[in-house]
Amino acid sequence: MKEMYYEKVELPSCGLFYQNIPPEIHIRPMTGVEQDILTTERLVKQGKAVDMVLKNCIKEEINLDELLVGDYAFLLFKLREITYGDEIDLSVRCPKCGAENEVTVLISELPLKVYEGSEPIEMNLPSKGRVVFHFPRMKDIKASERRAKPIGAEKAKVLAERRITSLLAEILEEFDFPYLQSDIPKTEAVRGMLAKDITAWRKWIEDNSPGIDPVYQLTCEECGRESRMSVEVGADFFFPED
Ligand SMILES: [Zn+2]
Repeated sequence: MKEMYYEKVELPSCGLFYQNIPPEIHIRPMTGVEQDILTTERLVKQGKAVDMVLKNCIKEEINLDELLVGDYAFLLFKLREITYGDEIDLSVRCPKCGAENEVTVLISELPLKVYEGSEPIEMNLPSKGRVVFHFPRMKDIKASERRAKPIGAEKAKVLAERRITSLLAEILEEFDFPYLQSDIPKTEAVRGMLAKDITAWRKWIEDNSPGIDPVYQLTCEECGRESRMSVEVGADFFFPED
């Protein structure tokens, strides 16, 4: 595709955490080729479709697995914006009263998070324990999903929790807890961590990981109450209705 179609975007991480990924990336709009990829059931089932689309539309040769989760999400939102425009029309259920609301979210107004420190990150936990870790990459997500496969008819919520502890084990580099031996495997260490330590650690990651924060405020038309919502990058994210 000709040069003119590419738009330059700056990653929320500013490229600070990478060896081989530049801080600025050039993206072009999706074409019929990418729409075909997104509707190829086999690729969607294998979870490869979105990666293939992103790879096609980015000019630079980068390893998507090395991207911070938040940079990856940022690129998906930018791809959506460059392809279809700034507005995302959503039909969302009010979590307070259940009424259906029509809302429009502007991608350009979604907040970005930056982090000015460097990796690895060292954090002291409420129990006086200590963890050393790096921000989650796409490869960490993929590894944790492989490790935590659904067991039979396991509830989605239980699986999601298992994937989180499994992801924490992927990003953990060193640990030192007053209540655990230090020579155990990382997965065992995370599973043995006190809940208050895990909660504090997860919150820190959530608050500080560089990337896009796909949150918006919903004011319900029915009950008037406000809720903090998040835009899901689901199956129809790249197929907006007219
Ligand atoms: Zn409501």
